[in-house]
Amino acid sequence: MPILVMKFGGTSVANLDRIARASKRVAREVANGYDVIVIVSAMSGKTNELVGWVGDTSPMYDAREYDAIVSSGENVTAGLMALRLQEMDIPARSWQGWQVPVKTTSAHSSARINEIPNDNIMEKFGEGMRVAVVAGFQGVSPEGRITTLGRGGSDTTAVAFAAAFEAERCDIYTDVDGVYTTDPRLTDKARKLDKIAFEEMLELASLGAKVLQTRSVELAMRYKVKLRVLSSFEEYDPEAGTMVCDEEDIMESKVVAGVAYQRDEAKMTLISVADRPGIASAIFTPLAEAGVNVDMIVQNISEEGRTDMTFSCPVDQVARAERAMAEAKDSGEINFHDLVADTDVAKISVVGIGMRSHTGIAAKMFDVLSAEGINIKVITTSEIKISVLIDRKYMELAVQALHDAFELEKA
Ligand code: ASP
Ligand code: MG
Repeated sequence: MPILVMKFGGTSVANLDRIARASKRVAREVANGYDVIVIVSAMSGKTNELVGWVGDTSPMYDAREYDAIVSSGENVTAGLMALRLQEMDIPARSWQGWQVPVKTTSAHSSARINEIPNDNIMEKFGEGMRVAVVAGFQGVSPEGRITTLGRGGSDTTAVAFAAAFEAERCDIYTDVDGVYTTDPRLTDKARKLDKIAFEEMLELASLGAKVLQTRSVELAMRYKVKLRVLSSFEEYDPEAGTMVCDEEDIMESKVVAGVAYQRDEAKMTLISVADRPGIASAIFTPLAEAGVNVDMIVQNISEEGRTDMTFSCPVDQVARAERAMAEAKDSGEINFHDLVADTDVAKISVVGIGMRSHTGIAAKMFDVLSAEGINIKVITTSEIKISVLIDRKYMELAVQALHDAFELEKA
């Protein structure tokens, strides 16, 4: 029988009623002729609570115990969903990550999946089991300890199972009905997309459209897993949601697929650093070692052997970046006149695979922002994305104006 992977996020299994509702969707797919692998998250809020308990007990906690504790929310929902399905006379059982086993690296709290052997579950399907309910987010290290895949990791579990079992599709049930052209909270013109290419979704996911964990999209792209994002709250509709798929499966794509934003950015400028070979490495190595997620980087024009270096990072990492730079200065690795932090900026990006073959998208974006009197502070581009830093107070205006200008409300 063909295999379908269905993943239910925390809000879709938040209580017993919702678990019953989700189970009905599973039952429908079983009736449609699928053997189903269900991946469940913990009930919404549960993982946060567990993370809090760990910190309250041990501020410098042992990462192996952290994983043992925070993975437990998924065990509960997996067992409950299996029981619910059994009550509906559907042969089902639960699996924890180590039982499958989901073999991961030993990088606790951010482990990567190495392998998912499919023989245990396939054997049970062969014996008549119709649903394997698997606890998402968790695995087992080579040392035999429980691991977790990072927050939001059950999306990655779902895609990895779809790849390992060659599932026909991976349906991600969540509390939104799909992927939108932009955040519907910023403009009521935001439109749900029927289809989006993996690469576009990757940009949107990493840019803060929090529908899917970024790694799950990377994995889906690599293994060409057909991903569908849909709501578990709407009535059943086989056409619902957004398909995340290969570029070739999108016949007529728009040049711009969406406008993304990141509210809490900071722009940091090192004033007057020596313009010499190795300077970028001398700046960004200590930043990386301090755990600063540097995003945009611009080196300014050089005069008399000195230059300014600008980079952006999340606003809550500014103190860390300042400390790393002060230490590098004290140790003599770099020398700069001043470090100026602008903590009131936001990043706006337009994303679309059509940019590869269309010119003028950047010019149009800058035009739109200038017409609104919005000053651009930093610009970066990639093949399918243009990003700018602007003052945070103009963020919503910029998103709305760009959404209008690129006519994203129209299909
Ligand atoms: N329960 C985990 C979390 O909240 C994993 C997930 O839901 O994807 O991060
Ligand atoms: Mg999630």
